[in-house]
Amino acid sequence: MSPIQTVAIIGAGTMGGGIAHIFARSGFAVLLCDIDQTLLDKSLARIRTNLGREAAKGKLTSDEVEAAAARIHLITDRDQLSQAEFAIEAASERLEIKSELFRSLDTILPPSAILATNTSSISITKLAAQTNRPTQVIGMHFFNPVPVMALVEIIHGLQTSQTTFETVRDLAVRLGKTPIEVNDSPGFVSNRVLMPLINEAAFTVMEGIATAEAVDQVFQLGMAHPMGPLTLADFIGLDVCVDILRVLHQGLGDPKYRPCPLLVRMVDAGWLGRKSGRGFYTY
Ligand code: NAD
Repeated sequence: MSPIQTVAIIGAGTMGGGIAHIFARSGFAVLLCDIDQTLLDKSLARIRTNLGREAAKGKLTSDEVEAAAARIHLITDRDQLSQAEFAIEAASERLEIKSELFRSLDTILPPSAILATNTSSISITKLAAQTNRPTQVIGMHFFNPVPVMALVEIIHGLQTSQTTFETVRDLAVRLGKTPIEVNDSPGFVSNRVLMPLINEAAFTVMEGIATAEAVDQVFQLGMAHPMGPLTLADFIGLDVCVDILRVLHQGLGDPKYRPCPLLVRMVDAGWLGRKSGRGFYTY
């Protein structure tokens, strides 16, 4: 198979923007697609700022910043994605949105193209079943902030072929990332292990065992975590944490994954963490 040169990224939010950044920086032509032009313009402005930060640290020259930004094409009409040899979906974490996108991308992209998803928790196997190319559907789970974090979890759906896996693993390496192979299961490895930690940390605060600051310090000073679990929860978004816990609870059927009532109450209050200005901490 000839190497992938043109990639489609669907969803230009936090993750889609970060993914577009690293593909463009690595020399790929990027078709960045979202539902309206304003979102796309904002996303490109954010990518430029972040590329500029890398230039300020001496990682890129100003010419390389311009060249990378020029490789990103903003698209609202999905039909214009037909030249892409690879697509990664980074749209909102809703099964109905992603299912519709996979059905549609399957009809638009060339039959040889691989369709990947950056989902944090939705079944790769289920999304693959929306298409006529289930062997070419795979999870490619990046971490936030994408330009900084080394890990990509590569997730085999039930029908994902070894060729698809190897192509996406090599793609991750071309992007300067470290791919880790896992199988499809709720929360994969990262969120299956991380979310119960965050949830249990929230329970210790709810039960008055310790303050959020104290819980975080236990992990920073005692386990050498760069940030404590509740600071991390605020960074991820408490709503996102509750959504993922619900997927784990429902998918694995074990009550140990039930979301902590304090987390649920905070989300009900609109305390979503950093993005809303208040979570376990005030920003
Ligand atoms: P976000 O809300 O910042 O961005 C989602 C974008 O998708 C929005 O710009 C929205 O307009 C767009 N969108 C929605 N429906 C669309 C459609 N039909 N066509 C095109 N665009 C559409 O969300 P995010 O944090 O970037 O998350 C995106 C995906 O990445 C989710 O699946 C999430 O679970 C996953 N993820 C998030 C993180 C994180 O830390 N935020 C980490 C890893 C994975």
